[in-house]
Amino acid sequence: MKVNFYTSTREYNEKKAEFDKAVLDVMAKGSFILGPQVGELEEAIKEYTGAKHAIAVASGTDALVMTSDILGFKNGKEVITSPFTFLASTSCIAKHNAKPVFVDIDEETFNIDVNKIEEKITSNTAGIIPIHLFSQMADMDKIMDLAAKHDLRVLEDAAEAFGMKWKGNGSSYKHSGSIGDMGIFSFFPTKTLGAYGDAGMIITNDDELAKKTKMLRVHGAAKKYHYEYIGYNSRLDTMQAAVLLVKLKYMNESIKKREIVANWYKERLSHCEYIKIPGIKGDQNPVYYVFNILAQKRDELAAFLKENEIGYSIYYPIPLHLQNCFSYLGHKKGDFPVSERVSGEILALPIYPEITEEEVDFVCETIKKFYSK
Ligand SMILES: *Cc1c(COP(=O)(O)O)cnc(C)c1O
Repeated sequence: MKVNFYTSTREYNEKKAEFDKAVLDVMAKGSFILGPQVGELEEAIKEYTGAKHAIAVASGTDALVMTSDILGFKNGKEVITSPFTFLASTSCIAKHNAKPVFVDIDEETFNIDVNKIEEKITSNTAGIIPIHLFSQMADMDKIMDLAAKHDLRVLEDAAEAFGMKWKGNGSSYKHSGSIGDMGIFSFFPTKTLGAYGDAGMIITNDDELAKKTKMLRVHGAAKKYHYEYIGYNSRLDTMQAAVLLVKLKYMNESIKKREIVANWYKERLSHCEYIKIPGIKGDQNPVYYVFNILAQKRDELAAFLKENEIGYSIYYPIPLHLQNCFSYLGHKKGDFPVSERVSGEILALPIYPEITEEEVDFVCETIKKFYSK
């Protein structure tokens, strides 16, 4: 049995008529850049997340670069984040010549270890970028307390966190991205809410930040051909917005199905002594964008899965402090031991709403077969 790590075609085939109509309507009307569906999507995202403003942009990476600019993560300022993430969470800081200051991750959640942040704060620190990875949010209570105490801006990299909600010690659940000063989502095709190409979104509750974001996405123009800032060209395609509007209608159902799949894995693998399944920390609603295990002999297991035509992924094989592009920061092996250890053990198994229980059975049986060899 071949099990894909990810596929968009099952969902497309299930809802073919809806997707086709959505895309063909855009072509028939011919408004390709910031067309009416983009505005509709922004409204729908505001409603879904509870944020006051939503601004659609061309990708999650662009969203991070633009928000870093807006929040003043530039010109030698320090920004605290974790090295165990996708490149874009840190390159957005470096792009504007701010300095990434890394803090190691919590070994259970893989998110920034909030107990190690304060010791890294200096008079030059401008902000914190927590990344809500894989299935759960970072401890936003602690992060917002530190930000208030030290007057720091918080940019939530919620690229992977669509649908995740944090309650913590608060009185209600708040959607990822809506707690800090600004938050961003990626709608890269594999993400929980995925487009049929690149797409991203910025959310904020602050009117001024929203106003500036809207200008920056169209070259810094307040009105056409009148430029207030040197901005960007980062607009969401109308066609991608049309696809996302179809998918958003089924979002809660998709999230529920991901949870069911995660539970299938947990039931089948929790007694396997060679594997560790990460736990969820803090009062929050997780969303299983990725289902990870920490595996002994990870690379041999990965090769065995491949032999058996099972897709997997390794997020992230090399922490950012050890990447060549950040060598100028002067880090060495051993600086962030938890990130380094997790990079060597982590393995993501196939998870998407359309995967079948039979396929999950096959994946789990193959894993068990590997360890009983
Ligand atoms: C996917 C991702 C991004 C980048 O999003 P794109 O839309 O691919 O540019 C940024 N940060 C994290 C944590 C991601 O997973």
